[in-house]
Amino acid sequence: MDGVCDMLNNMSTSTMSNTCANCGKEGSDVTNTCNKCKSIMYCNAACKKRHRHKHKKECERRVDELHDEKLFKQPPRPHEDCPICMIRLPNLGTGRVYMECCGKLICRGCFHAFQSRITKRKDDVCPFCRAANYTSDEETIKQFKIRTDLNDSQALFDMGYMYRDGDYGLSQSYAKALELWHRAAELGNADAYCLIGNAYKFGEGVEADEKKAKHYYELAAMAGNVQARHNLGGMEGNTGNMDRALKHWMMAVKDGCSESLKYIKMLYSNGQATKNDYAKALRSFQTYLDAIKSDQRDEAAAYSEEYKYYESDF
Ligand SMILES: [Zn+2]
Ligand SMILES: [Zn+2]
Ligand SMILES: [Zn+2]
Ligand SMILES: [Zn+2]
Repeated sequence: MDGVCDMLNNMSTSTMSNTCANCGKEGSDVTNTCNKCKSIMYCNAACKKRHRHKHKKECERRVDELHDEKLFKQPPRPHEDCPICMIRLPNLGTGRVYMECCGKLICRGCFHAFQSRITKRKDDVCPFCRAANYTSDEETIKQFKIRTDLNDSQALFDMGYMYRDGDYGLSQSYAKALELWHRAAELGNADAYCLIGNAYKFGEGVEADEKKAKHYYELAAMAGNVQARHNLGGMEGNTGNMDRALKHWMMAVKDGCSESLKYIKMLYSNGQATKNDYAKALRSFQTYLDAIKSDQRDEAAAYSEEYKYYESDF
């Protein structure tokens, strides 16, 4: 396998001819790339060093550009569809439930419909895998430990919350919460990145640090977390970058953030966004709603305010 890779590498470098950005030399041996922007090449380290001063500004601009390309790219969905009704899961946390028995995230509609049926039979089981629910704190924690040992990122995320709030008989610990969220985040959990951002924003368990907060919000947003995307818009708005703020909020609205929709409406009434922007935002919010709406979910939301799966106050 290694041999094949080497061969391919050799092929690609031998057929490629680059130009040194400093001395203008051309050839397949011009392979020394700028470590920062990775956009230009040099024939050797000496040329790179000599060119550094000239290239600095352009390099920074290119680095920012590459960062923005990643930041404003349409992110993946942070969760899979509900495994029971197969409808897209809402981004609002109250609209879904994590089952620590099987590690599935199911929608509140399916959960509530199942619960209302079984309360009569008094056997409380998981709507997905039919495992009996855990009745004591000890049992619940034991099951969460099993899931976290399996590197289940949602279990790590939820357990972080339990430590943050000192739930299920755990002793309250921000440090432990952050440790678990970092593990979840490294496994790709977008929501965990957002909570780490919040910790830095509000100085919970760590020293408040706006720069670090932004960094983690960016990682969260790029992985599909909509709250972090909304917050990034706020940060840009606070520093007067309304174009960037609008860009973030537009993306957040597309994934159901009603708070962002409110802000776009505000920009529109201040003359900082066009009527077209606002109309587009309204349309994308409606498209999101159409994708997540179901009768079962509406029934759950009507049953309890705590079961709502989208915000409608805008
Ligand atoms: Zn050179
Ligand atoms: Zn560069
Ligand atoms: Zn469902
Ligand atoms: Zn289950």
